[in-house]
Amino acid sequence: MKAFITGGAGFIGSHLTEALLDAGHEVFILDDLSTGSAENFRPFKANPRFHHHIASFLEVPLVNELVDTADVTYHLAAAVGVKLIVESPVHTIETNVRGTEIVLAAAAKKQRPVFIASTSEVYGKSAEFPFREEGDLVMGATSKGRWSYACSKAIDEFLALAYFKERKLPTVVGRLFNTVGPRQSARYGMVLPSFARQALAGEPITVYGDGTQSRCFCHVKDTVRALVGVMQNSRAYGEVFNIGSTREVSIGGLAEMVRDAAGSKSEIVRVPYAEAYAEGFEDMMRRVPSIEKIRGHLGWEPKIALEEIVRDVVASVA
Ligand code: UDP
Repeated sequence: MKAFITGGAGFIGSHLTEALLDAGHEVFILDDLSTGSAENFRPFKANPRFHHHIASFLEVPLVNELVDTADVTYHLAAAVGVKLIVESPVHTIETNVRGTEIVLAAAAKKQRPVFIASTSEVYGKSAEFPFREEGDLVMGATSKGRWSYACSKAIDEFLALAYFKERKLPTVVGRLFNTVGPRQSARYGMVLPSFARQALAGEPITVYGDGTQSRCFCHVKDTVRALVGVMQNSRAYGEVFNIGSTREVSIGGLAEMVRDAAGSKSEIVRVPYAEAYAEGFEDMMRRVPSIEKIRGHLGWEPKIALEEIVRDVVASVA
C-alpha cells in the first residue's frame, strides 16, 4: 500500500510514517516545516519506501499528484498549538480550511480514501461529559480568537462529511484529544513536553491557573494505531471518531508526576492565566472523550498507561 501524509514531518505525522513503514508500506509525506521538522524524518530518509516533499499543501498540482499516487491519504497538516493560533489567526483559519478543501477535492477525482484530523477543541465549552461524537459543539464569541481554531476544524469536518454524502468519497474524521509522546516539541506551549523540559533543566514547572483543570493524555503510538485502524475499516467511512484516552489527570497532578519521573527538585509554581495567555483566552477545565464508538468499530482503546507515557516523554527530552 502507498500512503500519503500531509504534515508528515510533524509530531503525529512522523509516528504515523514510522508505523506504516514498519508495516511494509510506502510512504509519501508533504510538509512545509512550519511546525514540523526535518529532524523528525531523518531516521527514515535512507528507507527506499520513504519519500518526502518539502512544500506547502496549498500547492495544488503537487497535492493532486501525491493524492493520486497513494491508496490512502492522511491529512494531518494544520496550524496547531495555542500560541500559534492566538498570534496568527489569519494563518490558522486559511491553512486549516483551504488545506482540507484542496486535499478533499484532489481525493474526490479518483475516490481515494482520506483521513481528516480534527480536534477535541471542536467540543469547545461543552459541559456534557464525556464528549460524544453526536454531542453539541459549544463555541465562544468570534471576538475571541481562540475559537477560530475550533471553527476552522469544524468546517473541515463538515466538508469531509459533505464529500462523503454528496460524492461518496470515503472520508473519516478523527477528533484527536491530547496526544503526547516523543518528538512533541515544547515550543508551541504543549503542557507535557514543557513540564518535562522544565523538570530536567531544574527550572520552575509552570502550572497555569490553579492546576485543577484536567486532561486525558494518549500516547501517540496508541493514536497512530487508531488512525491506521479506521482507514482499514470501510464501515468507518463517513464517520467521526473521538481518539484519545479516558484517564483524567489534573494539570497540578501531572506536574508532580513529571517532577518525580525526572528525579527533579524543580519547584512547582502557579502562573495566573492572565500572565500565561493573551487577554481573553479561556482555558478548558476538562476534556474527556467517550471512546465507545471507536471501540465498537475497531475494538480500539489506548494501551499505554499515563505513568509509562510520562516516563517515555521525560526520557525522550533528557
Ligand atoms: N498548561 C500549563 N502549563 C504549561 C502549558 C500548559 O499549566 O506550561 C496547561 C494549560 O493551561 C491547559 C493544559 O495544561 O490547561 C493543557 O494545555 P495544552 O496546551 O497542552 O493542551 P490543550 O489546552 O489544548 O488541551
